[in-house]
Amino acid sequence: MNELMKRVFELKEEIISLRRQIHENPELSFEERETTEIITSYLKSHGIEVLRPTPTGAVGLIEGKRGKTIALRADIDALPVKEETGLPYSSRREGIMHACGHDAHTAMLLVAARILQENREKLHGTVKLLFQPAEEKAAGALQLIKAGALEDPRPDAIMGIHVWPYSDAGSIGYTKGPAMASSDFFSVKIKGRGGHGAYPHNTIDPVNALVHTVSSLNSIVGRTVNPLDSVVLSVTTIHAGTAGNIIPEEATFGGTIRTLNEDTRKKIERLFKSIVTKVPESFGAKSEIDYKNTTKVVYNSPEFVDFVASVMDKAGIFKKREELPPTLGSEDFSFYLEKVPFGAFLRLGVRNEAIGAVHGLHSPKFTIDEEALPYGTALHVAVAYEFLKGE
Ligand SMILES: [Zn+2]
Ligand SMILES: [Zn+2]
Repeated sequence: MNELMKRVFELKEEIISLRRQIHENPELSFEERETTEIITSYLKSHGIEVLRPTPTGAVGLIEGKRGKTIALRADIDALPVKEETGLPYSSRREGIMHACGHDAHTAMLLVAARILQENREKLHGTVKLLFQPAEEKAAGALQLIKAGALEDPRPDAIMGIHVWPYSDAGSIGYTKGPAMASSDFFSVKIKGRGGHGAYPHNTIDPVNALVHTVSSLNSIVGRTVNPLDSVVLSVTTIHAGTAGNIIPEEATFGGTIRTLNEDTRKKIERLFKSIVTKVPESFGAKSEIDYKNTTKVVYNSPEFVDFVASVMDKAGIFKKREELPPTLGSEDFSFYLEKVPFGAFLRLGVRNEAIGAVHGLHSPKFTIDEEALPYGTALHVAVAYEFLKGE
């Protein structure tokens, strides 16, 4: 284990340069062709078998002796954000940026793969490397799963890491149980009957129906959910009307719902649909609801988190670690955990005020302290090594 950790730090510059190369060439969800090329050529150059079950993204296999399988995941896509960091290796693609750190995730896992491959004869089992496209669209994990990435061999455990700009560089953050929220998105069209603004009695006003509907929705969280259960219901868009003297035909609104509990999620969906149907109806209007379930709750297995903690103790290099509260952000890593419950999604601190690495995820100024990167690589290596270590 000590040799492995030493090797990680020997390869620190390689992690950084891979990260910068990917950072300079960001690609949007499902368009990660060059990124996929960087990944596959790096893996192949180190003798790692590469599968391509999806048009972008890749799956690597490191086979040791017969045994269990652990999957390690990195997401690879960038965002439609115009970079404003001023860094010398800033994005070369106008309006596209690795503002969520997926460049770092990819680089950390690539070098971890190299080190695990170098030590494969000590592994009793298989490491499956999931380089996943389109996390930002909450669609890439499902695409990989549908393409069979979790079959043959089927992972017994899974881990993912996200850089975390709210914690000190190099610290490992973990949450037991629910760690990130389910996310649902809705858009609603309320149909009335338009007419002159001065003669509302001859119309069915969809704006009035919308106002009452939205304010009723706001009482779902406050009045029907246990106050100790975290939930967000945000109406984030409203559109209606064209002129001050015209009552429009229809009004629309949309938004998102986040929960940390699948039962609560189902209950809120039911209440939402009931209110959005009945309130407009009481004014004579009709509604059309488009309600989409996207990611599920990211549920970290407490046993797996305990296993990771014991690995960190043994590795001896993880000086900073913290138990973090759940967040209502969402992640399509939840779909892997649904299939492979023994696993966790962890957070790697990348914050450093001294170098201005203080901006949040998805900010055009988002940047990381690269000194943190070897700790992410080390965590991948140490967890996979200990999981597959035959006694
Ligand atoms: Zn993101
Ligand atoms: Zn992300």
